[in-house]
Amino acid sequence: MIIIIAAFGAALGSFFNVLIHRIPNKQSIIFPASHCDGCKKHIPFYQNIPIISYIILKGKCSKCGASIHWHHLLVEVITPLLFVGIFLRYGISDVLFFKYLLLFSFLIPIFFIDAFHNIIPHVLSIPLIGIGILTSMLPGNNVGLIESVLTALFIFCFLLLLAWAYQKVRGVDGLGGGDIWLLTGIASFFGLQGMPFIFILAASLGILYFLIFIRDKDKEFAFGTFIAAATVFWVLLGQELILGFFKLY
Ligand SMILES: [Zn+2]
Repeated sequence: MIIIIAAFGAALGSFFNVLIHRIPNKQSIIFPASHCDGCKKHIPFYQNIPIISYIILKGKCSKCGASIHWHHLLVEVITPLLFVGIFLRYGISDVLFFKYLLLFSFLIPIFFIDAFHNIIPHVLSIPLIGIGILTSMLPGNNVGLIESVLTALFIFCFLLLLAWAYQKVRGVDGLGGGDIWLLTGIASFFGLQGMPFIFILAASLGILYFLIFIRDKDKEFAFGTFIAAATVFWVLLGQELILGFFKLY
């Protein structure tokens, strides 16, 4: 089972790379088929095998030698690991397995696109709201329909107000529209129980990263990357850690 899920993850990771590469450039994600950006030559399927092809080709195009960005390998490795992580945590028969598989399929491209380009594309963030609400109607889900809709609505209004207040006080945008849509989508998946933790962890990670690596307050800052990372952490480990902590005391 683990092998099937890992192979499925690697194949999807390959598709996420297409999204990561093409969505910020406003290119179609279907046409043209895989090709090298350097020489524009088509990449045949046998050179398009996740992980293996990248290693055999040493990260270079076989025709012109143009280098293939390292995110291709990283995403093809990370996606199967995360998918197997969801499987080990929830098991295949749990509806949450499918719910979080869907969620991660949006968070992985968002993580990289925001890290590289400082944008969270609406085509990835806004559908999450619908998917979160739809999956809340499935039997066996941990967040009910009403909680899902109300939390999304509450978080959306709260962040809009926060962004407005920040803009008034500081005169600059603190929270981008992309961040607001993304957090609203995540709210529809987790309800009120998960949101404070995800928000606090994302902000802490972001501030820590900012203090260590950036330190320039005028520089653009990819909060979506940290929101995605915090959410993944919450799904795989956080719920257990926090709930375990409160059971102890
Ligand atoms: Zn090439």
